[in-house]
Order: sequence, then structure tokens, then C-alpha cells
Amino acid sequence: TAPQDPFERVAEIDLANVRHNVKRLVALAAPAKLMAVVKADAYGHGALPVARAALESGASWLGTAHVNEALPLRESGIEAPMLAWLHTADTDFESAIESDVDLGVSGWELPAIAQAADNVARTARVHIKVDTGLGRNGATMDRLPSLLMEAAELQAAGKIRVVGVFSHLAVADEPSRPETDDQLRVFREAVEMTEAAGFHLEARHIANTPGTLSRPDAHFDLVRCGIGLYGLSPFLDQSSEDLGLKPVMTLKVRVANAKRVHADQGVSYGLNYKTHEDTVLVDIPVGYADGIPRSATYAPVMIGGKLFRSAGRVAMDQFVMDVGPDEDPAELIGEYAVLFGENGPHVDEWAAACGTINYEIVTRISGRVPRRYV
Ligand code: PLP
Repeated sequence: TAPQDPFERVAEIDLANVRHNVKRLVALAAPAKLMAVVKADAYGHGALPVARAALESGASWLGTAHVNEALPLRESGIEAPMLAWLHTADTDFESAIESDVDLGVSGWELPAIAQAADNVARTARVHIKVDTGLGRNGATMDRLPSLLMEAAELQAAGKIRVVGVFSHLAVADEPSRPETDDQLRVFREAVEMTEAAGFHLEARHIANTPGTLSRPDAHFDLVRCGIGLYGLSPFLDQSSEDLGLKPVMTLKVRVANAKRVHADQGVSYGLNYKTHEDTVLVDIPVGYADGIPRSATYAPVMIGGKLFRSAGRVAMDQFVMDVGPDEDPAELIGEYAVLFGENGPHVDEWAAACGTINYEIVTRISGRVPRRYV
């Protein structure tokens, strides 16, 4: 029997491409610094290896949504500044403060953070999050004056130190839309108001990857880039290549089965796909449990340098391709099928086939698929 391939299904992560992308973003952002956004396990790429590669290549900060995502990075010995910005009533602020993880605050968190700082006898480093138009979390401009007063009291008492003001852009991926100008205007006002209240800011930040790429006036002290690190374009009308970015993840799996069938054979649950001639069907052993969207239709896969399309519904563990009558099933079994990445289709093509964005395609590849770092 053939030796078992430990990577019969693998997401290969090209850390050299992470380094390339980071250097490109660092150069674009300068003199502003780069925060590498490594939330959601670095958009599915693996938070620790990506964080290390990014810091080695010039990133200065790390950013996560949750404190729980930042703590393991600290425990792994990373000393760079870190910010976590999305909290709930159960967030472990004490561990964050003890681990020097900066906290983004919308407002309601301040008493809990002050109490946590008191409990661990430390000062919490806080970045005030302003809702400049996204309508998600962050303090509205109406709320900001009272929030600054509250923060000033807690700072005077040594519980917190306000070191940053930040916000998040809503439509930076569509550079022609006017709302980004409005957000930047509100942000400048929020910064002025905070400085006028006597806070000395280390970091004013609002730009995500599209803001970094298309709006130099949004760079301020720090840019927070996620998708660009992973070599993907946030713009619908520009490719990775247009932006000088290199995609990092390649998803490839060995073909699980291949067989000849007759015309009019129904394929997969619902039998919505029917073969239109005698043909060869191939089983690709990844499905929605692996993060392949069930909505994928006619999704591209490269096998042996040839491009084929998926047929029928994606199931939990597998989906099927109709590769036409000319392929030899015996030769296909065990071949690598590349869903996207190096020597395969682009993630953007998968996003189009699934009616979603490239962010979602890579981020949802589940822990059931091993990562291999190359
Ligand atoms: N900043 C915040 C607050 C975010 O939530 C995100 C991700 O959505 C980013 C920055 C990074 O965005 P992008 O991946 O577009 O660079």
C-alpha cells in the first residue's frame, strides 16, 4: 500500500509572500506604521506564523478583534504592541492588561476596564473607538465629550491611559464613494477633541487595507491591514497583481475518486446537475465542513494543469466535478486538485462562484484542513 500522505488535504501558507506583502504595505504606509491584523486566526492563515512573519518584515503592531485572540500571541513570546477592539461583558480585561494588550473602547467598557486594572494593580492602555459613520461599535460624536470626561477621571486615578483614537472605514473598497471623506472629517474632529481634552496620543488610526492603498490622507500614525497581508485585493476592479500583492493561501487536495458515468446521471444532493454526455466524474474531498461554501456553483478547480468546474451541490465532506469524457479516471485518482492559489484559480474566482468576497473564502477554511507553512 502507498504511504499515507499527511497532506492529502492542505492549505499551504506561503510565508515568503506574507513578507513580500508586508514590505509593500509598510512602504506604502510610511511614515505611518503598519498594524498586522491577525484576527480570525489571521483570516484562516494561522495567527502565530503570520504574526511572526509580519513583525520580521516591518509590521510594528498586531491587531485582533478579541482579547482571546491576542493573549496566545503574547504567551508565545511576541512582544510587539497589540490591540484588541471587540469586547463583551465576559471579556478577560485583567489578562489583557497584565499581558500589555491595548484595549479599544466604545465607551461602556471603561468601568469594567478600570476595575480590572485596579484588580491587577496596573494601568490599562486604551484606544478610544469613534463611530465616524460605519454604524457599528465605537462612540458617536454625541457621546465622545462625556466619554472623554470619564476617561480623564480614570486616567487621573491611574487606572487607564488613553494612548489612541481610532475608527473604521465603511466604503474604502469603493474609492469613488464620498462617505470616506465624511468619515475622515469626523475622525479629524474626534482626534482634535481628544487632544484638546489633554490626552497625548501615540496612535491615531482609521485605515484598513483599502484605505491604506487608496487614501494616503487616511494613514495618520498607523494603518491596520488585514486582507492585504494575505495578498488579496479589497477592490472588485483590481487584482492582487495590479496592487503588487501575492496571494498567500493555496488550497489543494488529492482527488478521492474518479469514475466513468453515462449521460443524464444526476450529481450530488438534489440531483440539480445532470451529465449531458458520457463523462468522467471526480470527487474532491473538501466540503462545507472544511469551509467550502455550499453556495459554490460552477466553481473552478485545476487538476493536472487543466481547469474544470464543480457540478452539483457542495456536500459536507466533498463535491463533484464533471471533467468531460476525455480524462482517464485511473490517472486522476491521487492527482492534486488545486482549488485556489499557486498553480490554480485565484481566490477571487472562488469568491465570484460563491457570491461572496475573497475575505470570506480564505477565512472560513476550517481547522479540519491542515495548514502547511512553506
Ligand atoms: N480594522 C478593523 C477594526 C477591522 O475590523 C478590520 C477587519 O475587518 C481591519 C482593520 C482590517 O481590514 P482589511 O482586512 O480590509 O485590511
